[in-house]
Amino acid sequence: MAGSRIKLELSRVVQGESRLGVLKGLGRTGQHCLEVPGCLLYSHLGTVPHLTQDTLHTLKNIPAVTQVTLSSVAEHQEVLQEFKGGFKKFAGLHDTVVYCSLHDPAALCPPGYTTNKTVSVWGSGGRIELTVAKFMAIQKTIQPDWYQSMADGETWQSNTSRKRLRKSVDRTLAHLDECLTIHQNSQDLQGVEVFGVVEGGDILEERARSARETAKRPVAGFCLDGFQTGSMDQTLRTQLIKAIAKELPEDKPRLLQGVGRPDEVLACVEAGVDLFEGFFPFQVTERGCALSFSFDISLDPERAVLELNDDETCRAGEGQPNGEVTDGDQTQMTSFEINLKDKRYHDDFRPLVEGCGCYCCVNHQRAYLHHLLVTNELLAGVLLMIHNTAHYIGFFSTLREALANDKLDLLKRRQVILIATSFSVTVTPDGFESA
Ligand SMILES: [Zn+2]
Repeated sequence: MAGSRIKLELSRVVQGESRLGVLKGLGRTGQHCLEVPGCLLYSHLGTVPHLTQDTLHTLKNIPAVTQVTLSSVAEHQEVLQEFKGGFKKFAGLHDTVVYCSLHDPAALCPPGYTTNKTVSVWGSGGRIELTVAKFMAIQKTIQPDWYQSMADGETWQSNTSRKRLRKSVDRTLAHLDECLTIHQNSQDLQGVEVFGVVEGGDILEERARSARETAKRPVAGFCLDGFQTGSMDQTLRTQLIKAIAKELPEDKPRLLQGVGRPDEVLACVEAGVDLFEGFFPFQVTERGCALSFSFDISLDPERAVLELNDDETCRAGEGQPNGEVTDGDQTQMTSFEINLKDKRYHDDFRPLVEGCGCYCCVNHQRAYLHHLLVTNELLAGVLLMIHNTAHYIGFFSTLREALANDKLDLLKRRQVILIATSFSVTVTPDGFESA
């Protein structure tokens, strides 16, 4: 039965909203756990892009939950059905929990294809239209440990009308009820958990209604949809998430979809979010960049400024103070990364990040990565993905440490310094220039 085993044990709630704890009872046998605030492991068809399982496991503290997107698996349904063993076995995954989301957070989903009874997802072969029956048939062949119920999330654009937002909340609740009915009568989905989806766009009452009604259903947790980077500013996002959190039970996790930037993560944790999708390191890797922001909370803020001066002029100026974004293009470079394709790195013999213990930083220098990138060597993606994933996991680990030791403000100040320092820089097609 859905919602019966996953348990969120909170060890601290800071200022009534930021939650620190452990999500227990994950997986069919309930032996896995995940610390919160935390992120999931992003994958393409079960594999972290660029990394083999062996390479992945050279990293420490890998999240216990792998995110697989239904959009990518849907077109393989017939093969999976024939295989019978479920997606985890099919993809050669062993010691991980599989969570199946509807969409890929790193891929844009074109709007305009949702009806009363269907939603559309895009695979490599094009659009796939899903009814609840088809959606659930795919879940039965995937056999994930936990999945997001079908939802009408086509409301993230800021000009969406109130009427359309209300409709998305109603449809999403109807889809959830239908999913739960099929789920409860399915032998294949016994022991699998369902997350309900909170919709409602930028209207506070609709957000609260969606949360309240979803919480009445037997779900194991909640996906907060329609908040993705670029869809709204952080002030509004925080306000809406706080309103949602008031309607949700304390002991069930809240997973925020489509948000991965470190400054936005911090602000959303403060509003009451527990889990994030881990797609950000992949996006950074794909643009040939390395995460380089410092999150060391043992340094005092003044020293942090000195430390940043070194790299400040080669970061992008996209971020604005308070984490506001100016447009929704998630492929744009952020102030948390350096562009290793830039010619300034051709003779830079330092590691990507001083003191980083990942395989890439221990064995290679920025100059080598620069060379791999400009010659389009596949190894560039491998090494960048190792570093970016390790760096991002490290950030979440420090975030939890900061919550445990009342240092969240210090961590936030470091982010503000970073964004403010990088804001005076503009990106040009050939490289970077100070504004
Ligand atoms: Zn590294």
